[in-house]
Amino acid sequence: MVTKKKYRLKKDVFLYIAVVIVAIVLVNKGINAYKTYKYHQTTEYKLITVGYSKKDIKILSKNLNDKELLKLTKEKKNDKLVNLMSNKLYLHKHYQDYLDYIDIFPSKTIDEVIKTINLHLNYAFYEDTKPTDLSKEYLIIVNKYNYLDESFSPEDLVTISTKYSWGSPGTHTIRKEVFDAFLKMHEDANQNGIYLMINSSYRDFNSQTIVYNNYLKNHGEAYADKYAARPGYSEHQTGLALDIFSIDGALRNTFKDTPAYAWLKDNSYKYGFIIRYPEGKEDITGFSFEPWHYRYVGIDAAKYIYEKDITLEEYYVYNIDK
Ligand SMILES: [Zn+2]
Repeated sequence: MVTKKKYRLKKDVFLYIAVVIVAIVLVNKGINAYKTYKYHQTTEYKLITVGYSKKDIKILSKNLNDKELLKLTKEKKNDKLVNLMSNKLYLHKHYQDYLDYIDIFPSKTIDEVIKTINLHLNYAFYEDTKPTDLSKEYLIIVNKYNYLDESFSPEDLVTISTKYSWGSPGTHTIRKEVFDAFLKMHEDANQNGIYLMINSSYRDFNSQTIVYNNYLKNHGEAYADKYAARPGYSEHQTGLALDIFSIDGALRNTFKDTPAYAWLKDNSYKYGFIIRYPEGKEDITGFSFEPWHYRYVGIDAAKYIYEKDITLEEYYVYNIDK
């Protein structure tokens, strides 16, 4: 009698345990099914189903918000998008411009696309121009896309004596910090047997108009645009640019073969100057190689630009105007 009761009790316990186990399993299955269902609703899952890897999604998520990511799940995988965003020069503010450009030129490499858009080269020179950002001080950029107003003139111009410049006294002026830097450079060059002379310095808007119009009148627009900036687009108006030669000759077409240029090329950055229109960078600067044209940017920037062998345009895009 006692044994039978005990046995029945044991049987109840087993049944109870079995029911609990089954319940747990079912609840777990339910939870998992729910989790899977929920995961299938996520943007990540949808991106995977259209072909993106988890690594791709990580790259995309760094730049795109949920809405933009969701948009990608409606189209098939865009390999170029991941390549774009993996490029170290990718700037997200140009996202749409890159895509538009790829649509027009599908055979261009990602490097070409990024360079073109970052440097605004999808526009012809003097197209889509804007007033330059004067708050960048010694690092302001004036080129064929960024201009100075007609009225712009630096406030701290000093006169360059005829000891260092051609022309009659008072012809040349330049910003004070630039002149101080030039004097140091002049002295060190002199120690090396090179006497540097300036033949062009600050030019106001009206002087630039005369320079440009002369080229225009004598050689036509294509030639004028290659060798002179249009008024407002000349770096000489910043008061930060100098055309430097040596005292023994100021011939533009031979200057690049002189000891003076050889010295300037490898030393001017130590004083804060860069060769503003280097050889081989004409597509970026919009100017033919000018071994005589030096732009003051300060020592740190000049050293960086010299060591990386880049243009001011590139430095500005990646280091200043981020
Ligand atoms: Zn110049």
